[in-house]
Amino acid sequence: MLPTPPRRWFFQPNPMNKFILAPSIIASDFTHLADEIAACESAGADWIHLDVMDGHFVPTITVGPLFVEACRRATKLPLDVHLMIENPEKHLEAFAKAGANNITVHVETCPDLVRTVEKIKSYGCTAGITLRPATPASALDLALPLADLVLVMSVNPGYSGQVFMPEMIGKVEEVRNKLNALRSNAHLEVDGGISVDTLPLMYKAGADAFVTGNAAFKHPQGVGEGIKALQMSLRGRS
Ligand code: ZN
Repeated sequence: MLPTPPRRWFFQPNPMNKFILAPSIIASDFTHLADEIAACESAGADWIHLDVMDGHFVPTITVGPLFVEACRRATKLPLDVHLMIENPEKHLEAFAKAGANNITVHVETCPDLVRTVEKIKSYGCTAGITLRPATPASALDLALPLADLVLVMSVNPGYSGQVFMPEMIGKVEEVRNKLNALRSNAHLEVDGGISVDTLPLMYKAGADAFVTGNAAFKHPQGVGEGIKALQMSLRGRS
């Protein structure tokens, strides 16, 4: 029996930090999964981000619900599941049952995004919406009032370790303005190429949640120090 996961979480980040850090666990060493998650947790990570790829919507195949369930057993941190898969509706229930707290879907894979968002919520999860860098932010508009999280991809989805696209700063500003106009308290999350240099730029543009891959897991002093460096990246900057 799995422990009952906390289905919803408060919309406030860790009070010690001004923003949410969500290490992308597919950048970790899977032979030490529980240790890697524990290291994220003790360094003060807020969520664990899971990049699910199916080899169709994106060229790579990563992990599925069984892996989410393994992470669920290893942590009480919210699991932030990012589905880069075709026909996500078919699999929402499996990811919710595996212990996902938030499920984010791509507008490109959802012919009726509003319905998909409602379905995610019907399984007790919060609902995120996201888009490829090439998709205009207006594609989010219909579902935006219902979203608990909006994810802006700052690299083309499909691989870990890609270079940050600076033109996505403008997209974060655009989405922030849309959320403010709706008086939405949804998180605005950024995924791809986040480092101690790019995090402050995206924070200034209006993001409040950051997925981190290599900047955390490939840090020379280990993942704990990588997370701490990101947490400190706003210090001394205005
Ligand atoms: Zn992601």
